[in-house]
Amino acid sequence: MLKSLQGKTIIVTGGSRGIGRGIAKRFGEAGLNVLVVSRSLVDAEKVAEEIGGNASGFAADVSDEAGCKAMAAAAEERYGGIDVLCANAGIFPAAKLWDMTPQEFDTVISTNLRSSFLSVSAVLPAMTRAGSGRIILTSSITGPITGYPGWSHYGASKAGQLGFMRTAAIELAPRGITVNAVMPGNIFTEGLDGIGGDYIAKMEASIPMKRLGTVADIANAALFFASEEANYVTGQTIVVDGGQVLPESLGALEAMA
Ligand code: NAP
Repeated sequence: MLKSLQGKTIIVTGGSRGIGRGIAKRFGEAGLNVLVVSRSLVDAEKVAEEIGGNASGFAADVSDEAGCKAMAAAAEERYGGIDVLCANAGIFPAAKLWDMTPQEFDTVISTNLRSSFLSVSAVLPAMTRAGSGRIILTSSITGPITGYPGWSHYGASKAGQLGFMRTAAIELAPRGITVNAVMPGNIFTEGLDGIGGDYIAKMEASIPMKRLGTVADIANAALFFASEEANYVTGQTIVVDGGQVLPESLGALEAMA
């Protein structure tokens, strides 16, 4: 699976922290040229340094069309093409519906959903010319499957990514480009450092596998979508959540305690 990816080029948006950093490092290990993208150039370059080899950092705001075009141009200029896009950048500020402002709603939709459209559009010319490409969106279980108080805008953006994906997959199939999505459950990232054992224990209790996911768990699913072995897979999702969405009630978990 890894061999087929050696020497190819990937753009990872939101690659400077958390899940994106895990994806960038995993694809770096698999021998790809990695363009690590975030708004902070310093942070993106730090991850590129950790990866080593041909990895490099780039600063772009993925909610901005010019930023996405510049990101694609940088990958083409530095590496001669774009084989894989992981559209992973996202934000998750919390606000209950009665407190949420239209501006807050728009910012989440723009960063999480509009960015999928903009970053995919930006890599299309290179992938179309190559006659092949792999696009992997980081969605979530929150929105497409579950809800969580404070995240109505976030859930809408994550469900919206899947709606976008299904039509994009049909439109891009004749060009040899696949579009798939990973749907993470609760993943342990550095963002949770210092959050407290009680909070983590509460989250773990709701997961049949009794642990949070790792960034490597998500990166491995993305790696599959990018691999030769996933040639005939498009418009699909992989839920990576340790079984979190499965219990139909608290009783289902208690029955296993
Ligand atoms: P994170 O640790 O907060 O990292 C977010 C990354 O996105 C950073 O690199 C950040 O860098 C970048 N970013 C944010 N806004 C951006 C923008 N406008 N333009 C470019 N880059 C931007 O988040 P995470 O927890 O790894 O989440 C990554 C993705 O996974 C998100 O799409 C999220 O919805 C999804 N997800 C996460 C979990 C979880 O448990 N962590 C679960 C389900 C889904 P800058 O701030 O420097 O731009």
